[in-house]
Parts: sequence; structure tokens; C-alpha cells
Amino acid sequence: MKILSGLLCLLLLTGCATDAVTGKKTYNFSPLQKDVELGSQIYSETAAEMKQRGIPVNADPVRLAQLKEMVRRISAVSDLPDLPYEVMLIQTNIVNAMAAPGGKLIVYEGLWNPKDGLVQDDNELAAVLAHEIAHVNCRHSTEAMSRTVTVNLVSDLGVTFAKNTKYEKYAQLAAVGGVILYDGLLVMCYSRTDEKEADAVGLMYMAKAGYDPRAALRIWERSARNRNGADPAASIFSTHPPDAVRLENLRKQLPAALTAYEAGSSR
Ligand SMILES: [Zn+2]
Repeated sequence: MKILSGLLCLLLLTGCATDAVTGKKTYNFSPLQKDVELGSQIYSETAAEMKQRGIPVNADPVRLAQLKEMVRRISAVSDLPDLPYEVMLIQTNIVNAMAAPGGKLIVYEGLWNPKDGLVQDDNELAAVLAHEIAHVNCRHSTEAMSRTVTVNLVSDLGVTFAKNTKYEKYAQLAAVGGVILYDGLLVMCYSRTDEKEADAVGLMYMAKAGYDPRAALRIWERSARNRNGADPAASIFSTHPPDAVRLENLRKQLPAALTAYEAGSSR
């Protein structure tokens, strides 16, 4: 009990971080260097797993060079340009891209296809990469991790408290309460918020890097249209739910992004 509450106090005290993108206080007890270490670990584990399964990684040098150049341009205009950005291309037909913390990006080849892919041209590919780089800059992964650990600890503390006192019958309730709080409120709510933030931040990043921000809207319009089709479970549709609100937000942010894009192209 004492250890648990001590740990909780420690987390709450050390958990206050400043967001590089917004300058606002956020809750994240992972130092930035930890993001990099964690991301590198996920990155090399993913590469090893692909190798084990016989799935080619970085097998298309032309596409890989294109991805690297896009990541270089977008990360250079981001809020954390000095992170060790890297991109890995996995040659499967999965329609997805993801960001490990600290700047390690993973892109699946199935994401684009000039004819009928979710991503059909360079600007659209840049839009996806910019969205992922925005997640990295906003440090959404380790923020979510910090919340999860803390919520679990609060729940454990509630259970321990109830078990050790006359409130034993509330132990189960505290455990269930923790799960509901975690699943129902924080995760759902924050992940939507995170996606919204990554959309907005990514739109500005791509525009500043010289990619046409209108491409971001095209992807999500297409995604919304294709959504009723047979999408594989591992696809971008499962991790990035497109919806009208999301598109509406992007539409609102487009004029500012277009101004940044046009300012960049006239230089
Ligand atoms: Zn996202």
C-alpha cells in the first residue's frame, strides 16, 4: 500500500512535461530520450519479426529513398527536428503506417497504389508521414503509456485499500472502476484527441515542408468512402477511424495550411 501510493506520488510529480508542439503542460513521465530508446527497440524488434516471418523489409530501394526524403523534409520543419528519424518499408499489402516513439516510422507497402490505393500520389504519402511525425512530436505513445500506468496504479491502490480495510466489499468495485475509467474515459477520449491533434499538426508540417495539404483531405474522404468495403483488421481503418468530424476539422485548418504551403513555394 505504502509502496503503491509512493510510486503514484512519484509518477504524478515527475509526470509533468512540456509539449514541444503546443508549449502546454502534459502528463508524461518518460523523458524524451526514453521515447528514442523505446522506439529503437520497437523498430529493431519489428524488423527481426518480419525477417523471421520471411516478409521483405526495405526491398524497394526507389520507394525507400522517396520515403526517406519525405521524412527528412517533414521532420526538418517539425518541432523536434533533431530526433533520430528513420523509416522502414515493409513489403506487405497491409494498408497502414505507424510511428514508434522517438521518430521511428514503419510504412507498409499496401498503403499506396496509384490506381486504387488509399494513398495514390506523393502528396498523399507525405500527408500520412506528416500525421505520423506529428504523433512523434506530440509524444502521444508515451503520454498514453503514462496514463495507462497511472490509471492501473490508482486502481490497484483502490483495491489494496479496500482489501486492507473494512471496505473489503468495495475491492472488486475499485478494480472494475479502474477498468471502466481506463477503457471508457481516458483511452477513447484521449486517442480521439490525439488523432485530432496529429491531423492538425501533421497538416501544417506537410504544408511547411512543401507538400500540398489538400492531399490530406483527399485521403480521409477516400477512406470514408471505402470504409464499408472489406478492410483487413490490421489496416489503417482500424487504428485511424475516419469520420465526418475529423474531415470537418481538417477543412477548417486547410486555409492556414494552404497559406504556409504557398508561402513556402513562393520562396
Ligand atoms: Zn494517427
